This record gives sequence, C-alpha cells and structure tokens, in this order.
Amino acid sequence: MAQIAGSEVILAHFVGGGFRQGGDGSLPVVDPATGAPTVDVPRAGPAEIDAAVAAAAGALADWGGAPPGTRAGALLALADAIEEQAESFGRLESANVGKPIAAVPDELDFAVDNLRFFAGAARTLEGRAAGEYLPGYTSMLRRDPVGVVAAVTPWNYPLMMAVWKLGPALAAGCTVVLKPSELTPLTTCKLAETAAGIFPPGVLNVVLGDGAVGAALVAHPGVDMVSLTGSVATGKHIAESASRSLKRVHLELGGKAPVVVLADADLEAVVAGVRVAGYCNAGQDCTAAARVVAAGTVHDDLVDALAAAASSLAVGDPGDEATELGPLVSEAQRRRVGGFVDRALAGGARAVTGGTAADRPGWFYEPSVIVGVDQAAEIVQQEVFGPVVTVQRAADDDEALALANGVDYGLAASVWTADVGRAMRAAARLRFGTVWVNDHIPLVSEMPHGGFKQSGYGKDMSVYAVEAYTEPKHVMVKW
Ligand code: NAD
Repeated sequence: MAQIAGSEVILAHFVGGGFRQGGDGSLPVVDPATGAPTVDVPRAGPAEIDAAVAAAAGALADWGGAPPGTRAGALLALADAIEEQAESFGRLESANVGKPIAAVPDELDFAVDNLRFFAGAARTLEGRAAGEYLPGYTSMLRRDPVGVVAAVTPWNYPLMMAVWKLGPALAAGCTVVLKPSELTPLTTCKLAETAAGIFPPGVLNVVLGDGAVGAALVAHPGVDMVSLTGSVATGKHIAESASRSLKRVHLELGGKAPVVVLADADLEAVVAGVRVAGYCNAGQDCTAAARVVAAGTVHDDLVDALAAAASSLAVGDPGDEATELGPLVSEAQRRRVGGFVDRALAGGARAVTGGTAADRPGWFYEPSVIVGVDQAAEIVQQEVFGPVVTVQRAADDDEALALANGVDYGLAASVWTADVGRAMRAAARLRFGTVWVNDHIPLVSEMPHGGFKQSGYGKDMSVYAVEAYTEPKHVMVKW
C-alpha cells in the first residue's frame, strides 16, 4: 500500500481476485508537474501474464453464463464504489497525469456514467427474430461473449479508458486482463482494488508494465480478443501480432481533428470552443481540436482571437483549482511536441502565440497557435498530442472539407456554420467517426466513439461496443 497525493493505493498486479507483487523488475512513476519520481510499480513477467490469462479463462464460463442482470448488478456496484471514492481517484489521476484538478470531476462523472450505461446495455443485447428459414427447422441467434479480452490502455485518460474497455467487455460476458500505460498505472491499481470485492475472482485482472508487457499479453495464446486504445503505431503492431492467431482486434487510435470554420460561422463560439477543445488535457486528447481550417474571409480575425484565447489559459500546478493547463505527461512527450513545433517553425511556419516549452520545472509546454503551415507539413499530418493548434486558410467550403479530410486519421471533426444545409453537407462529407456541428469535444455514453481510416476500427461506448465483444451464433433446431 502506498500513499500518493493523499490517496492510498495498492501497487500490485491483480490476478484471480488477489494482489500479486513481483515479476520482471519495476518501472518508475514520475510526477509530470515536477519531473520528480513518485513511486515504483512492479512490471509483469511471463508468470504474471500467464496467471492473469489463466484466471480470466477460468472465470469465463460462469461470468459469461451468468444472467445479464447479474453482470449489470456488478457494473452498477463498481460505478457506485468509484463514485464513493471519487475524491481519491481524482487526486491520484491529477497527480499521475498532471491533469488540472478542476477538470477531474467531469472525467470521473463520465466514467461512472459509462459504467451505468454498460450495466443497462448488458440487458439489451438482441438478435433477429427466431424463425423457420428452412422448412422443419427453427433458427435462432445467440450473442456469445468473445472470450478472454486483453485490454490495453493509454496514459491520457487512464481511468476513463479502462472503463471504456472493461465496461462493454464485462457487460457482454467476457473476462478481462487489463494493462494500463506504464506512465499512468495509479488509478487502474485503485480500480482493481475497488473491483476486488465486487466481481468474482478472475473476471477482471490487471497486469502492470510497459509496451513489451503489452506485446506479450497480446501474443498470449489464451487471449481471444485484443482491445487497444493507443497510438496508430501500436495499433499496427497489435494487428500484426493478433493476425498470427486471428484474434479479434478492436483499435481506438489517434486522431487529428479538424475544426472547419465556414465563412458564416459564429467566431466567438469557435474561439470559445477551441480554447477548451484544443487545450484541455494539455491537448493530449485523441479528439483534440488540433487543426483549424478557416474560410479566407474570417481567417485573420480568427487567428488573432485564437491567439488571445490560448494565451489567456491559466498554466500552472495541476493541484491548483485555478489551473486550466497542466504539464504534458512526460519529458519524452514534451520533447516530441517541441520537435513538431520546432521543425514547423524552421520550415517557415509562425507561432502567433507559444511555440516553446514553458519556463518552469516539470513537462509544461506553452499553449500555442501556429500559422503558415502547408497541408503536407508534418505538423498538419501527424498527431502532435500537445497544446498546439494549427490554423490553415481555405478558399471555400469545398477546399475546407478537402483539407479537413486530407489526413490519414479519421476520429473526429467539427464544422461551424449558421446554415443547417451547409452543416449537413459537411457532416456527410467529413470522413470521421464523430462530427460535431457548432461544438467540439462532448461525447455521450449512448453514442459510439471510434475511427475511420487509420484512427482504427471498432467502437467504444454505446451498444455497438457491447456487440463488438460478442460473436453471433446460429442455433438451428430440427423439428
Ligand atoms: P501508445 O500506443 O504508446 O500506448 C498505449 C498502450 O499500449 C500502453 O499501455 C502501452 O504500454 C501499450 N503498448 C505499447 N506498445 C505495445 C505493443 N507493441 N503491444 C501491446 N501494447 C503496447 O499510446 P499512448 O502514448 O499511451 O497514448 C496516446 C495515444 O492514444 C494517442 O495516439 C491517442 O490519440 C490515442 N488515444 C486514442 C483514443 C481513442 O478513443 N481513439 C483515446 C485516447 C488516446
């Protein structure tokens, strides 16, 4: 048991209902706001991975065979238990990720709401009507759990991403081995502790470790399905690894969301929207409003207003209630963000505001607005995952939509206009899994979230997520 940010947490693997230390060394957790090491957590070795997969496989028949109402009850109990300990989860998440403490309650509320949604969704799975499709036979459709799910999560919303994975999988009757990011394991450890008295042993297991541990888990022959939220590069590794045994794969990957501002848009609303959606979680959001594509007639006014809005963000200690922008998660992430910006500036782009690391301890980067970038530029094409927004100019709606679609990603986009017809045309043409009209960022448990193109396949949240963890089975009965 460790004391971190005033919260107690067991730093251990969670296997078959019990906590387990040891494995193959340990990994440090670092405070992003200071750069100082916080604590070491164990790193799983082959024995921990084997034991976790075996525990999940052993629990599958009972959990998958339990009435949906039983599974729903456990998910509701988990939601209640997280809600009861919301402050403790919140402090840990803020300290581990560097999230502004004021932003954490909304994330926790959303995670709790997700679990309650999946509890309900567990009881709603359906198939086509049973019927006689061949004379003398009745056919019916079952939806069976896929089996043991290896769930691998990223560092930007550790608790929420864990919930997006385990909610639908457990609702569908699968059992889970969850591996959090090596950078941010703390709330997942707390989640395991919270789930311990709620789920039967083996239904939910947690192994701690880095990408190599994730790779070993994904390759394990006892795993039936892999569900990743992470980068495109990791998604490709996982798809390749899983192809060797044709495991099912569900990939929620990166994004490069355009903000398409048409000539008749309400610019004040755009600026207020991008001030939040471009910089929340320090821009480390797969749907972050990263690329503004603005009609030529409004471009210059918008750039000025965005620069003023970005530079007004309160950058500071994540534990301070007034802070709006905390640090990036790691030194490596700040180097990566700085590298994108430095190369763009060296190539002729201009930082209207920001464009440098913040001059303070920890992994802070100034909120930045970058102009003068070509569509082919790396900073437009690649996910930066930091508080950096580019602005491009478009001659008309067609060019704006072409620039918006002109990347390999397809997770989320927004279009801003006062004309419903223009908005609908844009929504139809934008090749992204979520399209907002006159807003950017809100998501709801009832609607699917997932990518087109290289942003991956499979949907998180909604009943589509629960379906993704099931296999339709035809049962045919001869009269
Ligand atoms: P990452 O791909 O580096 O790591 C994600 C997870 O995969 C971590 O747990 C990591 O340890 C593990 N991993 C790394 N290599 C692996 C391998 N070869 N096999 C198995 N597991 C491996 O991503 P990250 O840097 O932690 O997170 C940021 C990325 O996640 C961004 O690209 C972001 O867009 C994406 N993301 C997507 C969504 C979404 O809903 N689409 C949500 C949040 C984050």
